[in-house]
Amino acid sequence: MRNAKLRITWPLAVRRCFHNPRVQQEHPSALTRPLAELYGVGAERAEHLARLQLHTVGDLLQHRPRHHEDRRRLRPIRDLEMGVAALCRGTILVQGNKRLRGGGRSLFECVIDDGTARLHCRWWNVPYMDRYFRVGDDLLVFAKVSSLKPRTVDHPETERVENDDDNRIHLDRVVPVYPLTEGLSQRWLRRVMWTVVQAHAADVPEPAYALADMPTRAEAFARLHFPDEQADADLARRRLALDEFVELHRTIRKRRLALQARAIGMPCTGKGQLLQRLTGALSFRLTAAQLRVMDEIRKDLAAPHPMRRLLQGDVGCGKTVVAAAATLTVAESGRHTLLMAPTEILAVQHAHRFREWFEPLGVKVLLQTSSQHEASKSQSKTSAPTLVIGTHALLETDFQLPDVGLVIIDEQHKFGVAQRNQLLRKGRCPHLLVMTATPIPRTLGLTLYGDLDISTIDQMPAGRGAVRTHVRATDRLPKVIEFIRGQLEHGRQAYVVYPRVGDSATEADVKSVEREAAKLKKHFAPHAVGMLHGKMRPEEKDIVMEAFRAGRLAVLLATTVVEVGVDVPNASVMLVENAECFGLAQLHQLRGRISRGAHAGHFILLTNKTTPQVQERLAVLVETNDGFRVAEADLKLRGPGELLGQDQSGLPSFRFGDLANDFDLIQRARDIAMQFTG
Ligand code: ADP
Ligand code: MG
Repeated sequence: MRNAKLRITWPLAVRRCFHNPRVQQEHPSALTRPLAELYGVGAERAEHLARLQLHTVGDLLQHRPRHHEDRRRLRPIRDLEMGVAALCRGTILVQGNKRLRGGGRSLFECVIDDGTARLHCRWWNVPYMDRYFRVGDDLLVFAKVSSLKPRTVDHPETERVENDDDNRIHLDRVVPVYPLTEGLSQRWLRRVMWTVVQAHAADVPEPAYALADMPTRAEAFARLHFPDEQADADLARRRLALDEFVELHRTIRKRRLALQARAIGMPCTGKGQLLQRLTGALSFRLTAAQLRVMDEIRKDLAAPHPMRRLLQGDVGCGKTVVAAAATLTVAESGRHTLLMAPTEILAVQHAHRFREWFEPLGVKVLLQTSSQHEASKSQSKTSAPTLVIGTHALLETDFQLPDVGLVIIDEQHKFGVAQRNQLLRKGRCPHLLVMTATPIPRTLGLTLYGDLDISTIDQMPAGRGAVRTHVRATDRLPKVIEFIRGQLEHGRQAYVVYPRVGDSATEADVKSVEREAAKLKKHFAPHAVGMLHGKMRPEEKDIVMEAFRAGRLAVLLATTVVEVGVDVPNASVMLVENAECFGLAQLHQLRGRISRGAHAGHFILLTNKTTPQVQERLAVLVETNDGFRVAEADLKLRGPGELLGQDQSGLPSFRFGDLANDFDLIQRARDIAMQFTG
């Protein structure tokens, strides 16, 4: 279903920074020269380099060091401290392989001496290590000390010092350490890189913009590989990252301009009477933020170009009613709307809600999922404006709906760029509104959703009960259940969320809905307990969800199928088992399920993992209810790929740029691109 061609659009745009046709035209011979032609490389090593995707001189210059080592400051072995990483140098005194008893394991050990003390270097299960070293070799060793008696390091990084003229490249300076592949050594690659940098870094062309506070591109490549100080390499990396971001923004901008030139919009300029009637009938008053974004959207819809807008706002801020407003504006111009949601449960819930809102207004609502086929069955040729709500099934079914004016995608981070475009093709250049509850920092949004305008709802409806988050060890479960029972006595409802549907043989300590259900039903009796997970048939899910919504079930045991969008205001407690299995953004989404009513909510995270990483991660949720801050923390901890779904979102991949930390560069790149893209 995914369109591979579309998926690679962005990474390509980024790669083009380097494989830039302009670069190649200006310097046809220098940077495009095949590596096999270089002195000292040869056909065989060129093949090894090709495995690292390094084919030309230009590719090699872009091969980013993994890190740098400051070889001006070696540590005497005598001074090595426990657990601290350090670089030292010594001569190999003895070495050899030992076979360990049981399981055919082996240990290779070599002992080096630098005149102050001896250091034991150990490798397990790499018996061929003895081919790399000889007694008497002069060895650099970088590792953390794992034991002091005797001083020992395990699986250190090593490099043999040769006695030749090249040592000014490899010693007494800050040296690059590269990603390698079988058949290549650090020393050899560093030597080749040195030659290439000396000969060709200056051939790298400069872009049209000059930056007073940064090295030129040519200088940046020289310093990236062979900096005088670590800080020079960092600044070089930033320079090259900036160029990458500029190139991305230029591509985005060109695409925007092309779309505007090509696509004929469908200006929808109704009087807004339908919307007025809806707001009059709502049981709540719209927040200022909701009104503001509705206005932004209304202006877009009236414009001569199709809208391309992202609506972001924390879980529960009220995005659905904004989508309704957009739908009504389009309906007033006699056009139809498609709304796609990631789960059947959410699609059904939307259908409920929109029917309530729209039926009095004469706007038809049809549901199209794998089990409901109202749109594809609908024979009526009436011209009544219609909203078709559905899941992925919307993409797969053929239904007749001329004049689609608006496409809305809810929880868009659950879909791919390809799916978004596929849905757009159901109409002739309709307006597009995508909604997401994974709010991200503005600068990042500019990059990830660069081809979209962004509206943000940054305000919660008044009168929401506050949610408190608690992290507890698994053995506190009985107390937690006691607490939840108390809430049920007060008429509240509760969710219990598990990472799995059924048991897994490999992860016995991860609980599953199916295994725990019987136990919990007993614990919560006489309150009714229901179960909901992705392996159930859609009709079964509907029945359970409806029972929970109507209050006939007090407790819902579920997997993350309840993560997105589910709206039951009376539910005020959620217990999450094996909380360590979930991402922060995901937990925040889950928490959103219990902040919908006026009652104070309790979000209880159970885990047996006491590692600092897990505790630190969960502490973020205890500290803040602000989705932006949660997303930022998640971004730093797991990176944008995990946060937003790498292949799903069409996320660009950068060689030098770091989406989680380069906010200032992203912003600056956008300004530059605006100035330099016609
Ligand atoms: P989300 O932004 O997560 O999609 P919803 O649109 O589902 O949130 O809204 C969450 C709940 O808040 C719904 O029950 C909705 O009816 C209600 N709601 C929306 N806007 C307001 C408001 N301005 N005041 C009070 N409640 C509101
Ligand atoms: Mg929603």
